[in-house]
Amino acid sequence: MITHHLSDECLLEYAAGSLPEAESLVVASHLAMCSDCREQLELLEEVGAVLLEDGGVEDVPGDSYEAVMAKIAAPLDEEPSRRIEFGEDTLRLIPAPLRGYLDDDLSRLQWKRSGRGIEEISLKHQGDTRISLLRIRPGQKIPSHTHSGEEYTLILDGGYTDGGDHFGQGDVSHLDGTVDHAPVADPGGPCICLSVRTGPPRLTGIMGRILNPFIRV
Ligand SMILES: [Zn+2]
Repeated sequence: MITHHLSDECLLEYAAGSLPEAESLVVASHLAMCSDCREQLELLEEVGAVLLEDGGVEDVPGDSYEAVMAKIAAPLDEEPSRRIEFGEDTLRLIPAPLRGYLDDDLSRLQWKRSGRGIEEISLKHQGDTRISLLRIRPGQKIPSHTHSGEEYTLILDGGYTDGGDHFGQGDVSHLDGTVDHAPVADPGGPCICLSVRTGPPRLTGIMGRILNPFIRV
């Protein structure tokens, strides 16, 4: 059961088509997994439409959801995308909006070590914004860190505990740079998540003071 959802603010921005691509991807992927947020989005869109009507605005933008989806589905580069045969696990774990970002099936992706017990696949990197998949070893503690920007995490498989809060499949977390956190992955199986970071993380604590100059997680 999903217990951590998107904020209304986030859904409204998404509905208005004003979220940047990386954040839209997180929202669209969570919506694909969460009927509660799909219903909430519909409600917000209805309220928005009524407010616009009451305000006498005639030119209600078309289907903004479609517009955002079109933006997300747009090819990442000029090359024609090759057709990938996705296996059962990929179809089960990777929400449809995210599949277009994968170069290959989940089982064939080349994970790169990104820290102790953490592997990463970079899906897109633009300026300071990074979209990636993370795979965290069962039971792994992620070093305490804060962020210079914002961090969105959507759990695709497994889970983790962060500050006494448990996050499982479909849960989404949105943190800004002020939050110092050190999630611990659940035992039992790896935790796979979609991660969008709008600025590089900063390690905190004593390890951070030693390691910060050397790393870019
Ligand atoms: Zn939700």
